[in-house]
Amino acid sequence: MEKNTKITMLHGAGGTVMHDLVKNVVVKYFGGVGSADVPLEAMDDAAVVGDVVFKSDSHAVKPIFFPGGDIGRIAISGTVNDISALGAQPYALACGLVLEEGLPMSDLERILASMRQTCLEADVGIVTGDTKVVERGSLGGCVMNVSGIGKRTAALESNLKVVKQYRSGFASRWVLDSNLSAGDKIILSGTIGDHGLAVLSAQQGLTFGSQIQSDVKPLNRMIQKLLGEVGGVVAMKDPTRGGLADALNEYAEKSKVGILIEEDKVPIREDVQTACEMLGLDPLEIGNEGKIIIGAVPEKAQEVLEFLKKTPEGKDAQVIGEATTQFKGVAMQTLVGGKRIIARPIGDPVPRIC
Ligand code: MG
Repeated sequence: MEKNTKITMLHGAGGTVMHDLVKNVVVKYFGGVGSADVPLEAMDDAAVVGDVVFKSDSHAVKPIFFPGGDIGRIAISGTVNDISALGAQPYALACGLVLEEGLPMSDLERILASMRQTCLEADVGIVTGDTKVVERGSLGGCVMNVSGIGKRTAALESNLKVVKQYRSGFASRWVLDSNLSAGDKIILSGTIGDHGLAVLSAQQGLTFGSQIQSDVKPLNRMIQKLLGEVGGVVAMKDPTRGGLADALNEYAEKSKVGILIEEDKVPIREDVQTACEMLGLDPLEIGNEGKIIIGAVPEKAQEVLEFLKKTPEGKDAQVIGEATTQFKGVAMQTLVGGKRIIARPIGDPVPRIC
């Protein structure tokens, strides 16, 4: 980094600018110290140390309440979903609260009640934590960190067994971003863009005709059932900041494959599509907090899809494309018949969405 470079909002927006910051600055100092089975340098959804999946995530969403959720629900869901993305089941969380002077006690209790509810949904508890208070400033009420640990489950073992039936030589003990092979199907668990637009509407006081609600939710129950009852899942990633475009590019880069998706298969609510067109936003680049992108062996893809469609979290799931060796990066077969390159976004167009 140049000596006079300063941190901008883009450094936290999930696209190429943030990736460069993490890779070239953070990993430069933290990487290579200590040992892990899936280390920091892998930049996966979470790390693996011994057989423990370990994740830390800070949340600074603005405003702290928005249609369909609040900062507490995101903080629990974000960490739970990142642990789940490796195939593990979260079993304990830690929460660090930083409260701003002047935050109404009733707001704090509303957030904590929401976190309790989300913990009950995910069947995981907060077992340790810390609370700090800072002077009135720009926090917007509060920020928080939720860290957590997850463990291997019988469902994960069963999933890997199914993968090995179809792919001899598959050696990974976890569901990783780098596990995709040509031919694997890419399955998206539901509609995209809902969360980013819900937060944007709250930030800007915009209404889009209908009230767009955030999709924020923990996905671990659905994921564990999928792994245990169907299997064949090689990779999973939650498309948060930077959206589907960023997450697919991560897959392509780490797995060294191309990914081709079909525009008419990507589920987008009509009101989200219309709002994006009005605002000049690309729904593929907008963050989600209750969706997962699944890479599955082709032989099991249809079964995975049918399973997801029967769950409340995955009822709008679609097979959106597949991994290929035909090209590098991510491309989309468009409705009008051409192919569009889906580059990694510079940053999520909506600031402070999580
Ligand atoms: Mg993630």
